[in-house]
Amino acid sequence: MRKKWSGLFMIAACFLLVAACGNSSSKGSSGSSDKKNGKLQVVTTFYPMYEFTKQVVKDKGDVDLLIPSSVEPHDWEPTPKDIANIQNADLFVYNSKYMETWVPSAEKSMDKDHATFVNASKGIDLMEGSHEEEEEHEHGDEEEHEHSHEMDPHVWLSPVLAQKEVENITAQIVKQDPDNKEYYEKNSKEYIAKLKDLDKLYRTTVKKASKKEFITQHSAFSYLAKEYGLTQVPISGLSPDQEPSAANLAKLKTFAKKHNVKIIYFEEVASSKVADTLAGEIGAKTEVLNTLEGLSKEEQDKGTGYIEIMEKNLDALKDSLLDK
Ligand SMILES: [Zn+2]
Repeated sequence: MRKKWSGLFMIAACFLLVAACGNSSSKGSSGSSDKKNGKLQVVTTFYPMYEFTKQVVKDKGDVDLLIPSSVEPHDWEPTPKDIANIQNADLFVYNSKYMETWVPSAEKSMDKDHATFVNASKGIDLMEGSHEEEEEHEHGDEEEHEHSHEMDPHVWLSPVLAQKEVENITAQIVKQDPDNKEYYEKNSKEYIAKLKDLDKLYRTTVKKASKKEFITQHSAFSYLAKEYGLTQVPISGLSPDQEPSAANLAKLKTFAKKHNVKIIYFEEVASSKVADTLAGEIGAKTEVLNTLEGLSKEEQDKGTGYIEIMEKNLDALKDSLLDK
């Protein structure tokens, strides 16, 4: 009897030992045992990354939004405390190194045993950014040249590519917490079904469009435009605070007159100054086209999310695309 018990004890001890060793050597996942409430801990960068993750994880984990909604994520930089929070999570979800440009150096600065980094746009063919300065290329300096070849990170604004991001995020969540695989995959499917409905809504609306061009303040809607055969004409480049050159403004004015543009779109988080200026000069009005780079707490509390904002965006686009 005694012998049997000690044998069992030895076996149990071995298991514990193996578990402990496995833990310290496996990169990223330190298991859920030392995490808060034993739940999956996920840090996400800006709003769509938060929603895409939260819709899959639901109540099986804690999902945090790192970048405050009031801050333009193109310009945001993490504090040492933010870095520590990322380090201690199980998963860290970001859109792309062309959006959250600080991610590669942040990852390098961390201990080996940090959160698994999830690049949500992985596998998506990114488009080259900034189409506005092409003519200045030949005599432009090196920096400008490089800048205009930056990739465009705004993939989440295409309801089709958003689905791909949700799939990427889901795959990593399942890898991290395989015990709840079915739960996550079911949530993911349900949410992707909603994104598919949104895509259908865009397609049927755009089919009726008599005009295909729209002017935006910042070049955030290239993927959306490409998906539905529209032409986005941006006032500034990929980051909303870039000021357009005088020459470019003049070109835009000519374009707007030629295509009878009545609306200039701006976004909620950034300043609408350039959009206002151009609208004033051509006698157009301004309307909001939300890039979802931030979503106020009030909107979130009202239950407004990605789908609702994208529907609102489509309503706003209708004012340009459908002649009334
Ligand atoms: Zn942007």
